[in-house]
Amino acid sequence: MNSTALEPTLEFARKLDQEDPLRHFRDEFYLPPNSIYMDGNSLGLLSKRAEKTLFTILQDWKLLGIDGWTKGTYPWFDLSEKIGVMLAPLVGASPEEVIATGSTTVNLHQLVSTFYQPEGKRTKILADELTFPSDIYALQSQLRIHGYDPSTHLIRVKSRDGRFLEEEDIIAAMSEDVALVVLPTVLYRSGQILDIQLLTDEAHKRGILIGFDACHSIGAIPHSFSEWGVDFAFWCNYKYMNGGPGCVAGLYVHRKHFGSAPGLAGWFGSKKDKQFDMEHTFTPSLTAGAYQIGTPHLLSLAPLIGSLEIFQEAGIERIRQKSLQLTNYFMYLIEQELSHFGFIIGNPKDDVRRGGHISLEHEEAARICKSLKENGVIPDFRAPNIIRLAPIALYTSYEEVWNVVQIMKKIMQEKQYKKFSNEREVVA
Ligand SMILES: *Cc1c(COP(=O)(O)O)cnc(C)c1O
Repeated sequence: MNSTALEPTLEFARKLDQEDPLRHFRDEFYLPPNSIYMDGNSLGLLSKRAEKTLFTILQDWKLLGIDGWTKGTYPWFDLSEKIGVMLAPLVGASPEEVIATGSTTVNLHQLVSTFYQPEGKRTKILADELTFPSDIYALQSQLRIHGYDPSTHLIRVKSRDGRFLEEEDIIAAMSEDVALVVLPTVLYRSGQILDIQLLTDEAHKRGILIGFDACHSIGAIPHSFSEWGVDFAFWCNYKYMNGGPGCVAGLYVHRKHFGSAPGLAGWFGSKKDKQFDMEHTFTPSLTAGAYQIGTPHLLSLAPLIGSLEIFQEAGIERIRQKSLQLTNYFMYLIEQELSHFGFIIGNPKDDVRRGGHISLEHEEAARICKSLKENGVIPDFRAPNIIRLAPIALYTSYEEVWNVVQIMKKIMQEKQYKKFSNEREVVA
């Protein structure tokens, strides 16, 4: 969508909705009443299909008890593998390379426990200073477990402007003492997409393993992890994936690593036909399933079945295309309507660099967010000065994007935000 072809009118926004091939998916979601939801990149909304598959699993528990493991509508014993098969196209992997398991942070611990193998001079882990804190805490604790001081052994590549990372800076930091690189696919504040293929190639040229946190790209943009040779990746399924609060997460391991012993072993990582032999010798699965630990959280996995059916029908390429059009239209309207009010668009404007959300910077961001909430818009605040706004391809309309910008304009014109304090809430 070329911005010269855009118009700032409500009629035009409605026209974009009429032409949208994904518009009917919106009817499948429970949209919070009297509000415009712009926070689907923090917690995706419930769909009717996700609700249905959750109730189906509950019903199977009610009617079958223990037999749900093998005779349920979705037999529980290999459900994590089956969901892995459905997730695989979204990350560009073969079905055996993906498993639904754990949480983002637990999966990071599992993968670092497996793939961080310090040897000789190669003892450091390379990350970046803009990464999500939980990932940093996990890496620091992994270094401590191995007897290294995180203040010397965790390298955090600096951002030049506090928003973005330069691939060349990351590559320059891939020195001979680095054993492992862990980076986000998309930065959670600015929404910048990193060049995953380039970084993977450069790490491998230097004999370094590399893994990615895909929390802010899964379900929003396509990936080709397997083709790019990425060693491992992990992500949550409650953001763009709409799997519900605390939904079971996902992980990917490249097939070249199959057969490596998981750092954190548990019986659900067994070869499926060996698990109930109950031997004290662990026989890990020869797939990504090996990185499971204990019994899957079935009730937190269940909504994902229904949600993934929607992704299969919509197709990630069409989702990405609409997401880009939504954020492009958003940026256009912000420039048209809000340019006098001190906002800075802090996300990449270029399509190949832009993830799924708009990152608006403003010194009054915390109280503008409170004002937005009072006006029925649900944004997301990231301290100290970022308003994140995520129009979601499966359920946000262009008309809603138009309305959000009109509401923001009114808030700024009337200085409505001044009645709030400029501090964050407990859950921001
Ligand atoms: C949401 C998010 C997490 C959350 O981790 P949990 O273990 O699910 O709490 C981690 N990393 C990134 C980049 C995220 O966006």
